[in-house]
Amino acid sequence: MTTPPKQVAKSGFWGRWAATPLYWRILLGMFIGIATGLLLGDRAGWLRIPSEIILQLLSALAPPLILIAVVHVLMTSDIPRSSVARLAGLLLLNTTVAIFIGLTVANVMQPGKRSPAAPVPAATEASAEQTAGQDVVDEPAANPFDQLLGSLPRSLLGPLGDRQNVIGVIIIAIAFGVALRDAKAAPITNITDLVEVAYRTLIVVLHWIIELVPIGVACIVAAVIGTEGFGAFVNLGAFVVAVLIALGLQAAWYLVRIHYFSWASPVQVLRGMRDALLMAFSTDSSTATMPVTYACLKEKVGVREKSASLGALVGANFNNDGTALYEAMAALFVAQMIGMDLTMVQQLTVVFTSILASVGAAGIPEAGIVTMTLVFTAVGLDVTKIPILLTVDWFLDRCRTTINVLGDVNVACLLDGKTKQSSEE
Ligand code: ASP
Repeated sequence: MTTPPKQVAKSGFWGRWAATPLYWRILLGMFIGIATGLLLGDRAGWLRIPSEIILQLLSALAPPLILIAVVHVLMTSDIPRSSVARLAGLLLLNTTVAIFIGLTVANVMQPGKRSPAAPVPAATEASAEQTAGQDVVDEPAANPFDQLLGSLPRSLLGPLGDRQNVIGVIIIAIAFGVALRDAKAAPITNITDLVEVAYRTLIVVLHWIIELVPIGVACIVAAVIGTEGFGAFVNLGAFVVAVLIALGLQAAWYLVRIHYFSWASPVQVLRGMRDALLMAFSTDSSTATMPVTYACLKEKVGVREKSASLGALVGANFNNDGTALYEAMAALFVAQMIGMDLTMVQQLTVVFTSILASVGAAGIPEAGIVTMTLVFTAVGLDVTKIPILLTVDWFLDRCRTTINVLGDVNVACLLDGKTKQSSEE
């Protein structure tokens, strides 16, 4: 649905930095963070602020991104009327199963309670209030630095309705003015073109913020190591294992369903989809993988063209089970870590918002983290804990992207039914 923003080749340090894969930069950020945290100790506490700012900017982009992404898919997908109900049913079932698997594993393994010193941050209550529609940096402006922080956009349209926040308006104007420079000559002949330009521009801005993630990781790791020690990371290790187990169970669900409800055999499907699954893992993007998913489904697995296009093209945009599972597990993990028991109703709210957040998540790297703020907000969880997840997200994102693609494959195979297409078809 989208092509990545144009890369301008640069030389020198920044050129090499930009050309280094994001996960290497994040890993470097992690090591720098550990060293800084050990060196500064308690004095590293203020380093939380940069990572919270990055999160604030990411979450400001979440609502418009979801809006435009969903509008775009609905406008452009060609779904035959007869398949709508079947497709919707399959997607909903898979996503619900994914979230229940995620919640069950998180409830059984309790990854957030691994460390004896699971920290209960003083900010938790304030954050619960703040998440009821406010945001991350919410103190009254005391000095120019705080004033600048307070002016950073908390939502895209918010500053436009706030006479006091001229800085926020200017930041948005600069970001979108520059992002739109590449699209200024794009011909707009119909509404689809308009939505396309809006979507691509949002993605360009999103990529700029994602470029800041390694810095955010260095800062949050330094702050956590400096003030709380390695305890939080023991939890994080358990969280990674729990997510991997849950994603494995989800993969098993797909393969069992393929075995019983389609003509294809799971082994044959895995073999045929090898290229797409590896590409999903390495690009971290189910959208970028979509053409390969489609080609493998049609040519290597041998499903009908209609099933391949519904599974790969529609699925790649709407069907993000790995993301849904991850968002629900992350919510439960953070709740466990801060000692907050989620009631049954809150867990159901997590289920519901994770479904919506996964539908709205674009198939690009880190999109799950952007929409995760919506899930946290819905149950009053401390969104300032999300930056800690950035330290492992570069890896877990690859794993959930692979499952997102396998989910599309599952839908295509099930839509194809129990009889293989004949040579006349
Ligand atoms: N990277 C994922 C995808 O492309 C989305 C996510 O961040 O969960 O499917």
